[in-house]
Amino acid sequence: MIDSSSKDQRKLERARQKIRILEEMVENRTRELYLKNQKLEQKNEELERFAYVSSHDLQEPIRSIVGFSQLLHRKYRDQFDEEGEEFLEYITEASFRVKNLVNALLDFTRLGKERIVRQVDCNKIIQSIMENGGRKVIDENNITFTCDQLPVVRGCELELGQLFQNVIQNAIKYRKTEEDAEPFVKVRHVETEKEWMFSVEDNGIGFDEEFKDRIFIIFQRLHTRDKYQGTGIGLAMCKKITEMHGGRIWASSKPGEGSTFYFTLAKED
Ligand code: ADP
Repeated sequence: MIDSSSKDQRKLERARQKIRILEEMVENRTRELYLKNQKLEQKNEELERFAYVSSHDLQEPIRSIVGFSQLLHRKYRDQFDEEGEEFLEYITEASFRVKNLVNALLDFTRLGKERIVRQVDCNKIIQSIMENGGRKVIDENNITFTCDQLPVVRGCELELGQLFQNVIQNAIKYRKTEEDAEPFVKVRHVETEKEWMFSVEDNGIGFDEEFKDRIFIIFQRLHTRDKYQGTGIGLAMCKKITEMHGGRIWASSKPGEGSTFYFTLAKED
């Protein structure tokens, strides 16, 4: 006859056995995931390296194409008939586009390399954007630009400069151009316990919120090149930069009414 204590003992042993099997399964799965993750990281590094090397190596031949097509245009323009001149213009314009694209791609692939992280005064970033052409565009286009007194944050100054610059530049670029448009750009911020949140609001052309995630993917553009010049890299850069600062970026918009871009930066802990 089996007494109840040895019955309990066997039950306990079976339960322990099950736990051991489960633990082994979890361990195996974790190891598999770790290896897969390592492979993904390696592939990602290879891709980044490929993008970096190709954009870097493309710079030199592109410089030649831009330079010589400009020279051709300057020196021999008179010898072309109307159609020839038109073709030459296409080549010059296209080579400028490729140059801008490759430069932007190179900037994108350089992100995260050689970062210097320290205290950065965001007011100085805005000041520098204004001094480097921002003020001129704002004045020339009668844009009302307002900006909060911004905080000092911990981050990489170069990257934060690119972040503010891209978002503000877009707010200016995608403005309405009708006579009575009264374009504005407002830069604001709020502070929470763990992060800084910034917003850049405009009353520009806006976009359908259906595309609010797509615009942060590299090369995705919603507006055509003949109307608005661009590479489609700016917001992908902003996303990478905010993520490197422990933050995130998102947008809300309405076609014809304007857009607001929000981004956060983690506070120093
Ligand atoms: P680019 O401006 O070079 O096209 P971005 O990556 O900066 O590239 O932006 C991606 C797309 O998001 C733009 O092509 C545009 O369609 C849309 N977009 C960005 N900012 C705004 C804005 N403030 N208002 C309206 N559309 C915007």
